[in-house]
Amino acid sequence: MYKIMPMPKRFSAEIVYFCHMSIVKAKKSLGQHFLRDQNIARKITDSLLPLTREVLEIGPGMGVLTRHLFANPAFSVRAIDIDRESIEYLHQELPEFRDRILYGDFLKTDIEAFYQEPFSVIGNLPYNISSQIFFRIIEKRHLVSQVVCMIQKEVAERIAAPSGSKTYGILSVLLQTFYHIEYLFTVGEKVFDPPPKVKSAVIRLTRNERQELGCNEKLFFLVVKTGFNQRRKTLRNSIRGLLPPGFDSNYLNQRPEQLSIPDFLQLCAEIENSAAKINVVTQ
Ligand code: SAH
Repeated sequence: MYKIMPMPKRFSAEIVYFCHMSIVKAKKSLGQHFLRDQNIARKITDSLLPLTREVLEIGPGMGVLTRHLFANPAFSVRAIDIDRESIEYLHQELPEFRDRILYGDFLKTDIEAFYQEPFSVIGNLPYNISSQIFFRIIEKRHLVSQVVCMIQKEVAERIAAPSGSKTYGILSVLLQTFYHIEYLFTVGEKVFDPPPKVKSAVIRLTRNERQELGCNEKLFFLVVKTGFNQRRKTLRNSIRGLLPPGFDSNYLNQRPEQLSIPDFLQLCAEIENSAAKINVVTQ
């Protein structure tokens, strides 16, 4: 005699959940790891400060954050995903927000076509292109007031690293130049489907006061990138090719991780002044 057991509640919820999961198949090439913990989803969307009304979600996937965002009357939300299947799923699930759920590549989208006023960015980012996303955000910093995002834990630590630490690098300097960085919390692998191989972390970036750099921006980016590309060398060696003849500075005796952001800016201003003097003399 078999006894029919009532299905435990937890189990039935899981079945419903997995039915949903089968609708959008996770694609590795698009960095898809779907968050399946509602409490963490809520914690992420609650981390968004009401600094702007406009919010853009990068990579909504199956909408775990998107649903919370649309439910918040403080925000006017758009979401953009490169995966057509995710977009079709979201259009079906959230038909009232159809016009706000866009199919496209964030890296190639003309952001100014949507936003003339400052907005905030949120997303559980595709880890394989998170650096490219940050470089794009730096480019558009006049429009991006805030970023709340989940990324690979190591990348989050690097972005938040202070000068002098081993993980301080290009992204730390460039992002910290324009944003105040907060490491909010760490997220384990198990709350994703499929689980990523690495731990994750949520960080918040808010635009700081810095408007003027006091030196040429291209030169600053170039010095930072060139210096860190050979981080074991002193700047005298690594950025030699960028220096005007006869230029010297105390900063050149140091390695890039020893320079704070004001130090990098000061060094670039010195390079620029020296180059200008040479131009005056040779003209
Ligand atoms: N927010 C969802 C999905 C995170 S996975 C969740 O938390 O569960 C990352 C998402 O980014 C995927 O849906 C993927 O399709 C999308 N994505 C990857 N590259 C993208 C790009 N260049 N532009 C926009 N979305 C992208």
